[in-house]
Amino acid sequence: MGKVIKVSGPLIVADGMGDSKMFDVVKVGKDRLIGEIIELRGEFASIQVYEETAGIGPGDEVVDTGAPLSVELGPGLIGGIYDGIQRPLDKLRALSGDRIARGVEAEALDHAKKWTFVATAKKGDELKAGDELGYVEENVLIRHKITVPVGADGEVAKISSGEYTVLDVVAEMKTKTGKARVTMLRRSMVRKGRPYRQKLSPTEPMTTGQRVIDTFFPIARGGVAAVPGPFGSGKTVVQHQLAKWADADIIVYVGCGERGNEMTDVLNEFPSLTDPKTGEPLMKRTVLIANTSDMPVAAREASIYTGITIAEYFRDMGYNVAIMADSTSRWAEALREMSGRLEEMPGEEGYPAYLASRLAEFYERAGTVKVLGSGDITGSITAIGAVSPPGGDLSEPVSQATLRIVKVFWGLSSSLAYRRHFPAIDWLTSYSLYSDRLSNWYDRELGEEWNSMRAEAMRILQEEASLNEIVRLVGADALGGRDKVTMDTAKSIREDYLHQNAFHETDTYTSPKKQFRMLKLILEFDNRARAALNENVETEDIFALGVKEKIGRCKYISEENMSEFDKIEDELAAEFEALTGKR
Ligand code: ADP
Ligand code: MG
Repeated sequence: MGKVIKVSGPLIVADGMGDSKMFDVVKVGKDRLIGEIIELRGEFASIQVYEETAGIGPGDEVVDTGAPLSVELGPGLIGGIYDGIQRPLDKLRALSGDRIARGVEAEALDHAKKWTFVATAKKGDELKAGDELGYVEENVLIRHKITVPVGADGEVAKISSGEYTVLDVVAEMKTKTGKARVTMLRRSMVRKGRPYRQKLSPTEPMTTGQRVIDTFFPIARGGVAAVPGPFGSGKTVVQHQLAKWADADIIVYVGCGERGNEMTDVLNEFPSLTDPKTGEPLMKRTVLIANTSDMPVAAREASIYTGITIAEYFRDMGYNVAIMADSTSRWAEALREMSGRLEEMPGEEGYPAYLASRLAEFYERAGTVKVLGSGDITGSITAIGAVSPPGGDLSEPVSQATLRIVKVFWGLSSSLAYRRHFPAIDWLTSYSLYSDRLSNWYDRELGEEWNSMRAEAMRILQEEASLNEIVRLVGADALGGRDKVTMDTAKSIREDYLHQNAFHETDTYTSPKKQFRMLKLILEFDNRARAALNENVETEDIFALGVKEKIGRCKYISEENMSEFDKIEDELAAEFEALTGKR
């Protein structure tokens, strides 16, 4: 047992800690505040405390639990709303009211609730770690697989279906060294990735229903993306849209609110959202980790590890998981504050030198993997981190470190947001390094035309940017007919296609098939316009065609009504024929 010798905000230094290990969880003072050892020097331990340290002083005792920071995993996890060290917010509130009292301990999972365990393995089966023993239908959306824990591989000696709590033994394994009793509860340390068999390179997109993302800057399942942008540019809306619409089985949402009330919004909003695909509450496939602004910084630092460990647990069941962290800048600031208090040598802008490696460690835990066990089961984690550089300046350390790691960059632009072009993802600076790898999937799903269509649309947007320079110098009238068509098509791509209202019931989501039909119409108009120019039709007459307005409203065509597109295509052909036929 050690004694506190110094308190500096969330950091405590204790003496008499010679027997402790790095990253052990400790309890501090008579309130038994939860902390974690982040530096050890002989008898001295530096401890980051996850709770308000007021009232703690020299002489208070420090008790090492002997275990690293870990999370509880098992049935009941889905729908959970936790703080950064996986304390369930609803239980904390019930125990201590709105301002969470210190030292309150509550189990992350309900230890008393009985679940119906259905055994799928049988006595005598030879199983490896990761193999399925059985499952619990956690809710209508999620079948929660119970697998053989690491170290318990061997022959099933006993197993039976029935009603069990997470602490009850559901199976007994005869292992090489003896016997292992298996419950449905797992504990997993958060700072180390859960084991898997093999990392695979991503080949499929995680579609999002967001046109600018799916069309131009797609993210792969198992991929990593960053959404940097200044305050108010739409990072949180993008993250929420992904939570609602991304083609993932499970969502882990880690919120470190920027504004005081932002996390409260998440806490109020998420439980009221429905999963658009199933009509069920979104929380039935979501785990929420929330750091409200009244929570200490250290809990924020832990929260992304808590989140990704939970994501890994579901990945290991073969699910496709998406994790969103909003915002990683707030996480990095917590890291900076702790580092400052440790009096470490500061790196750029006061961030510790290990900022980049810590960020990399987080994103590296994403990916598509072949999970443990004897089957050929894959699971994936797709990670999307928001970054909020002060003033939107991407040269700052968190943005720079993030950009070196992620393969997708959705850069939000304040000028687009100012013009109310949402999502404000800047098509000229954003990129996806997965595009090529995913093109086979798109060829298969949408036909080979798609990849050339999206390249063509991007070319037109880039040409618009350079034409804009000319217009600025000599005015729009100086442009020839073909350039005017380019400018008009670019405008249509921007306004009719890329602009997408997250709050409109139809526009909020567009399937890949509908994206194809929409873009096809815009490019068809462009093609026919150029053909008409060759027939000496005036640009004014082309731009006055009635079908243009219909193209502008395509985004509101519902997914069930796709035959509308056939009609508009026919109208488009007929209007152009009438125009050129007049000559
Ligand atoms: P940030 O998290 O970057 O500070 P927010 O995500 O909170 O910014 O977005 C700020 C505001 O921008 C939102 O409240 C909303 O009014 C608007 N907005 C952002 N994205 C969209 C969108 N896709 N559709 C409609 N409005 C949006
Ligand atoms: Mg935000």
